[in-house]
Amino acid sequence: MNTQHIKIDDPQAQEGELLQAASILRAGGLVVFPTETVYGLGGDATRDEAAKKIYAAKGRPSDNPLIIHVANPADAERYAVTNELYYRLAKAFMPGPLTVILPRRDTIPLSTTGGLDSVAVRCPSHPVAHRLIALCGFPIAAPSANLSGKPSPTCAAHVAQDMDGRVDMIIDGGESEIGLESTIVKIDGDGLILLRPGGITCDALSMVCANVRVADAVLHRLAENERPLSPGMKYRHYAPTAPLVLLTGKDEDVLAFLQAEQNRTRCAILCYDEECGALKHENLLPVGGRNDLQTQARRLFHALRDADTTDAEIIYAHLPPMNGLGLALYNRMIRAAAHTVREV
Ligand code: AMP
Ligand code: MG
Repeated sequence: MNTQHIKIDDPQAQEGELLQAASILRAGGLVVFPTETVYGLGGDATRDEAAKKIYAAKGRPSDNPLIIHVANPADAERYAVTNELYYRLAKAFMPGPLTVILPRRDTIPLSTTGGLDSVAVRCPSHPVAHRLIALCGFPIAAPSANLSGKPSPTCAAHVAQDMDGRVDMIIDGGESEIGLESTIVKIDGDGLILLRPGGITCDALSMVCANVRVADAVLHRLAENERPLSPGMKYRHYAPTAPLVLLTGKDEDVLAFLQAEQNRTRCAILCYDEECGALKHENLLPVGGRNDLQTQARRLFHALRDADTTDAEIIYAHLPPMNGLGLALYNRMIRAAAHTVREV
């Protein structure tokens, strides 16, 4: 397949290009588009064939459901059974990086939801994503635009590495602002179950709903026979090719360990900006200031892909804290590292 590459800096001025993208989607084709979280691999969420094409392009197991993207929170009505808590969440966090799992209506085929009776709904804030969905008039099903198992793409160059030749169009809309996928919650009575941490933190959710429970699989490895609440939890994900090891311990001990490892092995290091001066320049990938979790989130997937372009046989990174945005970083990194944590 010949993939068309376009760049959209100003969605208002470039409505013609967006109309072209919408017509590809309307014809059942695939378009990769930018969102504030990561790039999405989009198809018409109401069409069975489009969902099947998405799974094929990603090499994704077809029981791992897709998130549907709507232009406005109330558009969810046609595709899902909403409730009062959904609208409270929408008022606080939409458009933005929050996905809510709701009971599915028949307008969304089972192939989109991986056979589930529920559907994941998100309303992105990125102006290109928003305008594209509005022009389509139907929801866009879009998982992250990476090959299954690879780190999610946060820029068009990374999308092209995985998706060139597999989709009809790639829209370059610059670097993703958040850099990690959306927070996913399931409404459970009058409470919420956090299925995937992301840009909307637990603390922020707690301001809207007093009862927020973190699903076990967010923090721990699932047992062999355990059934996850969210199918995606069971798959290895976000992983670079070289093994990733997460380090924990006192700052000075971790730094001394990294210095010794640089002399001993070919390693790549996702370091804090403050550590750059104390480490050899080679294969050093600064992810942001020690306490700047936002920058670390924005740069994580980019750094993991960059690590793969080095000759490193092992990748080291710091184990993130588990509070605030740290929980989202922790969840992605622990899975990218297949739970390999080393205390130094
Ligand atoms: P991605 O599209 O790559 O961001 O991944 C979407 C994630 O949302 C997957 O890991 C799914 O497990 C989760 N998800 C989507 N729909 C549902 C649903 N109906 N119930 C539970 N989890 C879902
Ligand atoms: Mg993904």
